Amino acid sequence: MRKKVVFWCLFCSVGITTSMLTAFSYSEKGFSGNSGQFILLVITTLVLLMYYLKLDGNSELVPATIKVKEQNKKRDDTTKLVTFKDVAGLEEVKEELSEVIDFIKNVEKYKKMGAKIPKGILFHGPPGTGKTLMASAIAGESNSHFIYASGSEFVEKYVGVGASRIREVFEKAKKNCPSVVFIDEIDAIGSIRNADNNSEKDQTLNQLLVEMDGFNTNDNIVIVGATNRIDMLDPALLRPGRFDRHMFIGNPNVKAREEILKVHTRNKPLATDVDMVEIARKTHGVSGAHLASIANEAAILAVRKNKTTITAEEFYQAIERVLIGLQLKNPSVMEKEKRVVAYHEAGHALIGRVLKNSPVEKISIVPRGQAMGYVLNSTDEDRYLHTRDELQNKICVFLGGRAAEELVFDEITTGAKDDLLKANEIAQQMVCELGMSDLGNRIYKCDHNGEAMPIVEREIKKIIDLAYKKTMDIINENSQSLEKIASELFQKETLTGKDLDMICNF
Ligand code: ATP
Repeated sequence: MRKKVVFWCLFCSVGITTSMLTAFSYSEKGFSGNSGQFILLVITTLVLLMYYLKLDGNSELVPATIKVKEQNKKRDDTTKLVTFKDVAGLEEVKEELSEVIDFIKNVEKYKKMGAKIPKGILFHGPPGTGKTLMASAIAGESNSHFIYASGSEFVEKYVGVGASRIREVFEKAKKNCPSVVFIDEIDAIGSIRNADNNSEKDQTLNQLLVEMDGFNTNDNIVIVGATNRIDMLDPALLRPGRFDRHMFIGNPNVKAREEILKVHTRNKPLATDVDMVEIARKTHGVSGAHLASIANEAAILAVRKNKTTITAEEFYQAIERVLIGLQLKNPSVMEKEKRVVAYHEAGHALIGRVLKNSPVEKISIVPRGQAMGYVLNSTDEDRYLHTRDELQNKICVFLGGRAAEELVFDEITTGAKDDLLKANEIAQQMVCELGMSDLGNRIYKCDHNGEAMPIVEREIKKIIDLAYKKTMDIINENSQSLEKIASELFQKETLTGKDLDMICNF
């Protein structure tokens, strides 16, 4: 509002000044008669212009330091500290960190021995796996001040602003010793220098390196960085004396999933039919953040249904809600489309069964999120190694839906978009990263647009084409089973793993 008023005042005063200027230029007296008024108007116009520019927060003319101070105020919020009890699983990481925590707590003991505190710890791994939580737990366990900063906060277009922010963070850490400085998304400032010729980013990274070298062992400060892309980090950041302790934090295994679920249901009233082992089995491949969300979603569902406890049903609904999406209340799916989806999902389930992929928990053609239908799998074991055959079979399972559509309707639909994406991703990994193609044990890199070399493209196509042929052969050989699964699914809309066992007696 204030900005608008100033703008209109400025507009009027510029208008009056211009018309006075024109009038004076035609008058015989020139400026002499009303020169006092004219000078006053010019000064007023200039003052209004400067005030307007100051109000405009986006203006390039606003001194960068003003913005830095404003943003720093926001960053002073302290995060609620947690301890190792709140971090489920990750026992090996906790064990490794307990030494660092002991160091912070009993710094004198280590100093006497001439030992230096490890300066930098780098957590890397997929999103939502508990990196921030663990950093906060280090501070909680060692009674230290926790200073949170996100790498993207330091990315600025004004040269020097990012570096000055880094300095401020470290000044704050030194004032509040012992302290844990956590820099999330450190790749935003720590990516390999000169790659994109951004001098502001280089200056920020240089400042971080200087600060890390600058504080001495008496400062009792630990810096924890987190990234999803360790491969992008500048080697200078990873060298001994800086972030030299790397810890991978991946998606939890079945035991850890059970423990994470227990942490997130600690304060929730659970019904006796809730079996955490079973829920952990059904949530293969998900992150800790997903599990926290599932526990919360189950509680919300129970409240919505006016229940006094959370039952297994709410948990199973929450899994589908979080992993696949919201169930559409009044889906207007045409009869023909519903039939196509039934065959498509039956195709996935059939191929999965024949090729002994993970057991099917549920098949559904009730639309959820963007999916018209889905197959939910479970697993009893966590696998870390996969053979070439297993990866090829996974591609076949993804292609099962399209092959079923083609066989039954002699036509293909857009329903296989996501399946094709996943199948191609696996094939590309096999060729480029895993040496599992006819190109041999070689690694191939895509260019910066994500495009692969023609020879790689040909190999990916070969893998996909072969898998599609194998899928089509299986569907043809088991067309009666496909028919049975699809028609049951069409009628009931949802089938369980047990229903599938009854239909397919192989
Ligand atoms: P990103 O890489 O996206 O920043 P992150 O690895 O830092 O993610 P967090 O923010 O630490 O992930 O985790 C998100 C939420 O997931 C946590 O607040 C917590 O509720 C839950 N969570 C993740 N891992 C665990 C775990 N091991 N134990 C308990 N809760 C967990």
